[in-house]
Amino acid sequence: MKIKVMTDLLEANDRIAADNREIFDRNGNLVINLMSSPGAGKTTLLERTAEALAGKVRLGVIAGDVETSRDAERMEKYNLPVVQLTTGTACHLDANMVASALPDLDLSQIDILLIENVGNLICPAEFRVGEDHKVVILSVTEGDDKPLKYPLMFKESSLLILNKIDLLPFTNFNMDEAKGNAHRMNPDLDILELTATTGQGIEGWLSWLKERWQRRLESLRRA
Ligand code: MG
Ligand code: ZN
Repeated sequence: MKIKVMTDLLEANDRIAADNREIFDRNGNLVINLMSSPGAGKTTLLERTAEALAGKVRLGVIAGDVETSRDAERMEKYNLPVVQLTTGTACHLDANMVASALPDLDLSQIDILLIENVGNLICPAEFRVGEDHKVVILSVTEGDDKPLKYPLMFKESSLLILNKIDLLPFTNFNMDEAKGNAHRMNPDLDILELTATTGQGIEGWLSWLKERWQRRLESLRRA
């Protein structure tokens, strides 16, 4: 019975996600759903991305948080369209919440829409929001066995970002182990290493993003 309820819930979610997707298609947006544990560096990565792409790519941000608007406030200084979604008790963003943010964004003026999901490695992976790609951030201050503990997150993602690599000498995080575990869950997963706070390795992420955006435009042109 419980399984049935969950299935209905996800089906309803997927219908709304498909509606969001149509809106993104119409506006030519590349949409990235950014997920991680709390504190892994989602907002810091958004800040570096906003700095690096200012004047080159038009970004928009939807920031999901359980309570505060601190992350959205951090993004405001970059002069981007930012919408805060405060989820209350919900530990993930779903398609309906993202749909509710869309009227507050001029999507026709946005190239890449970055959605910062609620910090949580479990249910955000279950809810499609109409994105092109899910991206998971794992910081090296967490365990290298996380891909084994939260397999769905890694299976659903197109890219894994290993963040805070400057802290590697102070941890027992095994980089090869982490990558191996992640690829065991998802052989197609792209993996990048960087430190969002210092910007080290950020170019890899920026080229990944721009390449995906080009591919998105090409596929929309063909459609
Ligand atoms: Mg954040
Ligand atoms: Zn949840």
